[in-house]
Amino acid sequence: MIEDKNPRRTPLSELGEFKLIEHLTDHFKVTHKSTVKSIGDDAAVLNFDKKQVVVSTDLLVEGVHFDLSYAPLKHLGYKALVVNLSDIYAMNAVATQVTVSIAVSNRFPLEALEELYAGITTAAQIYNVDVVGGDTTSSTSGLIISVTAIGEVEKGAEVLRSGAKPNDLLVVTGDLGGAYMGLQVLEREKEVFKVNPNNQPDLSMYTYIIERQLKPEARKDIVELLKELEVKPTSMIDVSDGISSEVIHLCKQSKVGVDLYEAKIPLDPQVISTCEEFNIDSTTIALNGGEDYELLMTISQEDFPKIKGNPNLTVIGYMTEEDRGMHLVTRADEKIPIIAKGWNALKDQA
Ligand code: ADP
Ligand code: MG
Repeated sequence: MIEDKNPRRTPLSELGEFKLIEHLTDHFKVTHKSTVKSIGDDAAVLNFDKKQVVVSTDLLVEGVHFDLSYAPLKHLGYKALVVNLSDIYAMNAVATQVTVSIAVSNRFPLEALEELYAGITTAAQIYNVDVVGGDTTSSTSGLIISVTAIGEVEKGAEVLRSGAKPNDLLVVTGDLGGAYMGLQVLEREKEVFKVNPNNQPDLSMYTYIIERQLKPEARKDIVELLKELEVKPTSMIDVSDGISSEVIHLCKQSKVGVDLYEAKIPLDPQVISTCEEFNIDSTTIALNGGEDYELLMTISQEDFPKIKGNPNLTVIGYMTEEDRGMHLVTRADEKIPIIAKGWNALKDQA
């Protein structure tokens, strides 16, 4: 589906491991004071003085987490960083360094890895993180990418999943369900392409949701906004699996219940129209579709005037006493228990 605009194919065996690492990494610059020693030694040296350090890691496996028939390598490199940075921001922390490890089969030429690293480099620049290390090895099957993200947060400023209290407001950033519907469109086009490879799909109606799937963004801006507004959420989590499973994490770890209002869930018009086209309920997608990488948080009622009217933040419900349970309040004012389906389970339905 993706046109090969880069016909040069340099076999990795031509370079060898050390030349390859050098080729992929020698342009990375150090921008953070906390990076004392970056790529090139047995380990990186970091110094955070009195700041607390947060660390998160993720593994992406070809055929499980991505499909190279429609995910361009540049976007994949970008996404691999973004999904990790999202976890750092969900702690209310600033991301500062990443390590990137790859396992590649020799069906990948050097040019493919250059594309992957172009995406990694762009994300590192945009999110202002230093790439301080990694590992490079061969794989007998597909491509595997593992990223570890490191960040810093002042003592006491970290936001855990466990701090929500009854009556706190449930707030979500951006809009939901886009990445999942983008995936549905891409999967459909892949099937069409298999039947007729000459068919050039017109995807102009779906640009927003396809971008949400292939090139998601992490909400670094929200951590900055919350600081500006002087709001410290009582709990927070990033939306990687869909808000129903994320809100359950907040409730269980905070020992509270929730009333989440269907009518308040923020949806982009492209999500609504694509759901209609695919004949899927948009609320189901918003609740269970994955990979939106928005932030779901609870804030104290006292802070409501500070966030009121902010276009980045939508109040979608409030927390209750634990024994009241976890419910979706529908448009018809019915209360339905929230259960976690997650996007994997959804796959069987769609
Ligand atoms: P070692 O043999 O000690 O694992 P390597 O030769 O694998 O060392 O790595 C040399 C340096 O290059 C180290 O600083 C390592 O962190 C870095 N590095 C290796 N692979 C990558 C990669 N894919 N991306 C970024 N840095 C890497
Ligand atoms: Mg190594």
